[in-house]
Amino acid sequence: MARKAPERRNNTPAPWWKWSRLGKIPLRNPRVAQKITNGCGPPSRTRRPTLMARSVFLNWRRARWTASFMAITIIVDPAQSQQTKPAEPNVAAANRAVQSQLPFGDRQDFEDAMRGFIATTPDPGNRDRWAFLEHEAPPTVNPSLWRQAQLNATNGLFKVTDGIYQVRGFSQANMTIVEGMTGLIVIDTLSTPGAAREALDLYFAHRPRKPVVAVIYSHSHPDHYGGVSGVVSQAEVAAGKTKLIAPAGFLEAVVGEAVIGGNAKARRGQYQFGMPLPIGERGNVDEGLGKNDSRGGSGFGPIIAPNDTIQQLVESRTIDGVALTFQLALDSEAPSEMLIYLPQSHVLDVAEDAAHTLHNLLPFRGTIVRDANRWSQYLNAALDQFGADAQVLIAQHHWPVWGNERVRARLANQRDLYKYVHDQTIRMMNQGLGPTEIAETLTMPPGLENDWSAREYYGTISHNSKAVYQRYVGWYDGNPATLNRLPRVEEAKKYLEYMGGSAAVIARAREDFKAGRYRWVAQVMDQVVFAEPSNKEARSLAADAFEQLGYLAESATWRNAYLVGAQELRSGVRSGARSVPGVSPEILHATPITLVFDYLGTRVDGPRAGTANIVINWQFTDTRESLASTLEHGALTSIIGKTAPNAGTTVTTTRTVFESIILGQRTLADAMGHREITTIGDAKAVSDLFTLLVDFEAGFPVVEPGR
Ligand SMILES: [Zn+2]
Repeated sequence: MARKAPERRNNTPAPWWKWSRLGKIPLRNPRVAQKITNGCGPPSRTRRPTLMARSVFLNWRRARWTASFMAITIIVDPAQSQQTKPAEPNVAAANRAVQSQLPFGDRQDFEDAMRGFIATTPDPGNRDRWAFLEHEAPPTVNPSLWRQAQLNATNGLFKVTDGIYQVRGFSQANMTIVEGMTGLIVIDTLSTPGAAREALDLYFAHRPRKPVVAVIYSHSHPDHYGGVSGVVSQAEVAAGKTKLIAPAGFLEAVVGEAVIGGNAKARRGQYQFGMPLPIGERGNVDEGLGKNDSRGGSGFGPIIAPNDTIQQLVESRTIDGVALTFQLALDSEAPSEMLIYLPQSHVLDVAEDAAHTLHNLLPFRGTIVRDANRWSQYLNAALDQFGADAQVLIAQHHWPVWGNERVRARLANQRDLYKYVHDQTIRMMNQGLGPTEIAETLTMPPGLENDWSAREYYGTISHNSKAVYQRYVGWYDGNPATLNRLPRVEEAKKYLEYMGGSAAVIARAREDFKAGRYRWVAQVMDQVVFAEPSNKEARSLAADAFEQLGYLAESATWRNAYLVGAQELRSGVRSGARSVPGVSPEILHATPITLVFDYLGTRVDGPRAGTANIVINWQFTDTRESLASTLEHGALTSIIGKTAPNAGTTVTTTRTVFESIILGQRTLADAMGHREITTIGDAKAVSDLFTLLVDFEAGFPVVEPGR
């Protein structure tokens, strides 16, 4: 619902924001902004907040989130965007109806997202990238998601309260800067060093330049630690000059989520984050948590290990005169996560456990299922412990909430959101419903439907309930009919045979498409595409159904998944043929040697290994790690710190050399030729082992059968 811009009083300067038909958003014309001098907007030194914008719809930067798991560069033909179609009339009507179903008149979030704004710097290459969001929600985007996309387009340096600042919108996550007596405490370092440096530069342009005395990782996801080397150096941390504090199990969680299954997670991540999509009304509008953008140049820095870890459920530190109380929240939104209370400022930082969205219990990219019950308990504990005192709630995504009453309500609402999904899923499971029935039946918790921060921009009630189901009883719904299904292609061919062939199915599906039954059309056309992947009519109709489902979705992750599916059915996967090792150099380097061998085990071609028996003792001189590995029955196992008496070979090398071979940056033969790998015993055993390792296809098929 559009809101009229309020009239400005005479003689007040032009605002640095403007009212669009959907609300207050930043100005994007720099010439207008330069005229701003003082008054109700930011101080005169400020530059206007720009929408994070850029013209090229996909380049290496957009792959960063997933690139933390492993970079995949996709070259998308700009012509493919012309294949997108408008919203069907019933989709446009459904999206229009959302305008009256939700409280669009509640402008609090827009006020909060801009409160304390100091300044921003334009992103030179991306000036107008998100400018299209200034307009009213188009028929191709759910207005609720559009609203979130507008909010997430704000960026810059913001004052939260005295001594606490945030840089938001420079990367997917926030950087929070706490001013100590002599230096700064930085909570989270954005996705890349370049983004972190730009964020700090912006801060220093408006606040006194002080050294960073401590860095805190709120949790183990790459949008929160990836930029650490843009804030501190490894040497400073190693020497103890800068404190680097992390929740218990941080490094294990970082590598644990990224090193095993990395290629599949990266590929699935493209669907979750919509990286292959063009930016725009028929493409990517948001990620739910923010924009999948990061400023400031390419590339990752090293993952710097913490030199101080929070081990107890609640622990306190005083750093540079700033008191901090840490509350561990392990196995909530991340395996290693913590909330932080700053009692002197009355600010509670809830990391990523209470953002302005229903979060994911199992994101599409693939993780271990998160524990909704504990997640809720952590928020309840925070409410109990800090709720009486807290005046501001900040998170490492999105904008703050001010005022004790609102802080308490937010914590309580989010607590109940996760608990309700958890408990009601289990209730229905105990009543005999299967996962699809539960997902269909479960709704928003009563009374939270109109709470914008509980809406389904990232997670959804539907797929979160399936995650709860999976956590407790697994993939199997208990019905033996689903116990041993035929593989998809075989199943699809039999369905088509029974249904009278693809032409008959497509004809019926066209009728359902006209009637707006897109879910069913997507489902049944999937059968046709898997039976006949080269059937253009089937691919086209399947893509059309995906597309309309994407246009309807409130969840950014659903929209992205549907639209990437449509794109790949129409244009194929452009990065398909590239072979990758399935791990990024930064992750591999931070991985303990036993886990490196676990990862190598996932690259062994088991059938080809057959009954080969290869036992090797390994010594890594740079890290002083040693280990005995055994390949037997196609399985690679290892024991750290041991030598196997039956080993045919002892290998001496360095982690650096070993990692470069694993990553395919150099060959084993080359390293052995230069004596950077030396062996005692059967040298051929090492090459025998390495020849059994496979690489992975970066862009393996998802919406059609594998080749
Ligand atoms: Zn995050």
